[in-house]
Amino acid sequence: MSYPLHAPAPHSGGATDRAAGPMTLQEALRSDDFCRKLLENARWPAGPVCTNCGATGRASKLTTRPGLWTCRACRRCQFSVTSGTPLHRTRLPLSYWVRLFNMTQVGGLELTISQVSRRFDVAHLTAENMLKRVEELKVGMPEMSDRLDRLLREFSRESMSGHQAGN
Ligand SMILES: [Zn+2]
Repeated sequence: MSYPLHAPAPHSGGATDRAAGPMTLQEALRSDDFCRKLLENARWPAGPVCTNCGATGRASKLTTRPGLWTCRACRRCQFSVTSGTPLHRTRLPLSYWVRLFNMTQVGGLELTISQVSRRFDVAHLTAENMLKRVEELKVGMPEMSDRLDRLLREFSRESMSGHQAGN
């Protein structure tokens, strides 16, 4: 099984002039688009599944908002990769969730609420909520979590080869 994952191009007009080359995982995980694609691949390895009627292969992308899908089978719903998951209806960027997942699950870090609050520059309550929801995702959606874990490790390995890892 192969996942067509490509890191997005670095933002142009950045302050630093970056040499061309593969992105490191840390860099890729700053991009919400990349993180959305990771989550979509992890949740729907065979393509988006309608959260309303369960149809597969009938989803089409809406242009109104990135990550929003509609279903051609039931024609009644709009859904995204977080619909029906513990990450639903959060105002935080998707990249925060994937980064926290990567730190705690893949990296095996046991972060306290204060550490999450500092690392992500979010309020204490938000940090607490982030840890709780990521834990809920791991427990409640084990298949998605396993795939996400694997995708992150694969990307990390790929970007390491041919790339002298900095930091
Ligand atoms: Zn549907």
